[in-house]
Amino acid sequence: MAFEDLLDDPVVQKYLHELVGPTGMPVAAAPPDGEVTDEELAERLGLELNDVRRALFILYENDLATYRRVRDEDSGWLTYLWTFEYDNIPENLAEEMDRLLEALRERREYELENEFYLCEVDSIRFEFGEAMDFGFECPECGSPLESMENTDMLASIDDRIDALESELNAA
Ligand SMILES: [Zn+2]
Repeated sequence: MAFEDLLDDPVVQKYLHELVGPTGMPVAAAPPDGEVTDEELAERLGLELNDVRRALFILYENDLATYRRVRDEDSGWLTYLWTFEYDNIPENLAEEMDRLLEALRERREYELENEFYLCEVDSIRFEFGEAMDFGFECPECGSPLESMENTDMLASIDDRIDALESELNAA
């Protein structure tokens, strides 16, 4: 079953965990074959119905689950039959990585275009304009603000960009 291979991937696990949180993770980590109701899932996983519904709704919002409504002939109650759509996970992840890459590139620009000053006591970083406004004195503790290199920061941003790019190219 392809879902199991997918769910073995730590990147996928992390992605799902970020979406549904720890309470929803049992739902996200155990996609059933075929359709299932929220009550069935709650019973099977020993979870509160509300937690199951919350997780399902988040999966739905992220195109990872769909539902259809069926009216029970006898009771007249509406039942929601859920289907997990985990085939969409790779595409979602690629989009996620694109967004992250975009954010990192913007951050890189920001680091390149600005000069920074540091209060070594509070470890607070100020942009040049801010530091100037404060007369190059920390507004928290009054220590002098020292000019700060951001080459390490830039190097680590570059590393992350490189890693993401090669991951995206490999996909
Ligand atoms: Zn300070």
